[in-house]
Amino acid sequence: MKKHLLSGIFAAVLVVGCATNPVTGKKNLNFVSNSELFPSSFQQYSQFISENKVITGTADAKLVEAVGLKIKKAAEKYLTYLGQAQYLTDYRWEYKLVDNKEVNAWCMPGGKIVVYSGILPVTQNESGLATVMGHEVSHALANHGAQRMSAAQLQQIGGAALGAATSGKSESTQQIFAQAYGLGSEVGVMLPFSRSNETEADKIGLTLMAIAGYNPDDAIAFWSRMSAKSGASGTPEFMSTHPADATRIANLKSLIPEAKATALKVGVIR
Ligand SMILES: [Zn+2]
Repeated sequence: MKKHLLSGIFAAVLVVGCATNPVTGKKNLNFVSNSELFPSSFQQYSQFISENKVITGTADAKLVEAVGLKIKKAAEKYLTYLGQAQYLTDYRWEYKLVDNKEVNAWCMPGGKIVVYSGILPVTQNESGLATVMGHEVSHALANHGAQRMSAAQLQQIGGAALGAATSGKSESTQQIFAQAYGLGSEVGVMLPFSRSNETEADKIGLTLMAIAGYNPDDAIAFWSRMSAKSGASGTPEFMSTHPADATRIANLKSLIPEAKATALKVGVIR
């Protein structure tokens, strides 16, 4: 019995190891599948929500919910266009505004999006928020968090997922997620996404934004504000994981025409 279970897991690892990510078109070198990753992700997310103050009912909270819903619909429309709608089957989307001074936002695997109130002065408006949420959702869709984890960490997450139903909270699992997804400075050292992951998330994010009915040109204004923020009062959390320099902004500009063209092919949500 145990031998069968282990060989089953080994086979699953082989299959997952060769899977092509539908949004990036690249082979995912992940050691855990979404069905293994999501239970741990949802558990860590629930814990975060229970330990932090979620803002509800305000204009800002309603805007986070509304923009999140539009980005979710855009992701579904885009994946359907790519013939990969099933990729989002196990997603359990949520969009929460959390009371926290940090300039930060993230999306955990399976569509759990958290925006910190501290980033709202930088997003400033709906399209600024769409820029951040579209970008973070793109990291999740492309499985970039998993790529930031080491093989050993991924195996640990896989093990945690297998035992998630019975085990309580796991400190080490929590720390791995915190570092991989940029949950907050109090939990551990933030690892920046690689330049190629950032470019990928920018590209997909601009496309989602455009499909959701926003103008991707507005993304430039947001990243410029974020870039200006870095000198003022220490480096914001979001900046340490998302360096917004001149190279990045120039690259964003070059990606906009293709994002707009793709959105027209996929169909823009009105
Ligand atoms: Zn990013």
